[in-house]
Amino acid sequence: MLAYVLAVEAIALVSIPVSGSLDSLARQDWIWFALLLGAALAYQEAARGIERVREVADEGAPYNHLLSVWLFAGVLLLPPSLTALLIGVGYVHAYVRVYRRRALVYRKVFSAATVVIACIGAYLVLSAIYPGHDHPFALVLDGPVGLLAVVTAAVVYRLVNYVLVVAAILATNLDRPARNALGSATDQLMMAGAVGLGGGVSVVMTVQPWLTPLLVLTVLGLHMGLLLPQFRDASRNDSKTGLFDAVFWAKLVTDELDRARRLGDTAAVLVIDLDHFKRVNDKHGHLAGDAVLRAVSEAIRHSVRGHDMVGRYGGEEFAVMLPGLGVDDALPAAERIRRAIAAVEVTTPDLDGTERVIGGLTASVGAAIFPEHGTDRTGLLLAADAALYEAKDLGRDRVRLAASGPRLSAVRIAPQH
Ligand code: GH3
Ligand code: MG
Ligand code: MG
Repeated sequence: MLAYVLAVEAIALVSIPVSGSLDSLARQDWIWFALLLGAALAYQEAARGIERVREVADEGAPYNHLLSVWLFAGVLLLPPSLTALLIGVGYVHAYVRVYRRRALVYRKVFSAATVVIACIGAYLVLSAIYPGHDHPFALVLDGPVGLLAVVTAAVVYRLVNYVLVVAAILATNLDRPARNALGSATDQLMMAGAVGLGGGVSVVMTVQPWLTPLLVLTVLGLHMGLLLPQFRDASRNDSKTGLFDAVFWAKLVTDELDRARRLGDTAAVLVIDLDHFKRVNDKHGHLAGDAVLRAVSEAIRHSVRGHDMVGRYGGEEFAVMLPGLGVDDALPAAERIRRAIAAVEVTTPDLDGTERVIGGLTASVGAAIFPEHGTDRTGLLLAADAALYEAKDLGRDRVRLAASGPRLSAVRIAPQH
């Protein structure tokens, strides 16, 4: 893994000087560079809050950001050495301002290296299609060949970056489903849009450079307009774990059950309670307990699909809604979560301040299926909760499916624990 990362970084480093040094640059190159850099930094400053949330949310999957608009425009306008400088300054700025120095430096360096290689790859494609021509390619992109050239360069840019990043994520997350590493379709579309927009930006900048501020504002407007709703949803997340809070989870589940009812689909609800969690707190302190809760939340989130809804229901209780799952597949899904929790290991300061690894957690899970065990959210939660208590009674560390048929015992109100 280390060899792979270092190789990618080395290739990025050596290919910058190969692709032309900085001293033969014209004034116009620096003007374009300054415009693109200004645009990139303005975008990152304005979208700081959103991007921080997105970067955290994309843990374990490729994190895509709209810097590609300006970077791909750079490919079409600048010599590769200046594009590399643009990438470097952009990433340092993001590290300091967006991630507030909390991101893992080696990851960001690797990620910047993949972008450098992607840009140079795209540049080489353009050089091959327009032999003898130097930058800016935006000036010569014309006719069907121009279209073909810019599309090919865009595909190479995206593909090189994507493959290099996904390979690294796959290699470091062998325990997680490979699907996670591929990222979401929404992100792919967003990136395709960003790269396409970058192509347009570069052409406008060569023909009408004074329109550049308009483009910056357009991209910013779209970015904030489209991502802000997503960002607001983030405030419905539980602050400790980042999972949906109970109220928002309930709303999502109600919507999902409406959908299932319309389509005649099934859905599973799981209620998960950590076993003897009080002992973790008593032994290691509440701060360590909180760290465990965060790690467990991550484990649950990564053992379900992207569109499954994971909520923090109470202190150390979690609720998961799995659309489309029936009796047969709900139990394996619940088992997967139970095993993922059992595999959690957290390094955290203990009561006496020394670092300690906490693991060996177990959880009890109750599962209920729509419409078999309940036809609304409350009914399903009651059924899943009753199954959870059965799992606890049977000795904990296990999954129980709700009993079929009408549950008269669902009215049991005396708490047993
Ligand atoms: P069991 O479920 O197996 O019966 O035992 P338990 O010890 O886990 O019991 P229960 O679920 O009733 O206890 C919940 C405990 O979880 C109480 C409290 O110490 C802990 N807890 C709840 N919320 C938090 C939290 O936000 N942070 C921390 N550190 N601990 C919490
Ligand atoms: Mg509990
Ligand atoms: Mg518990």
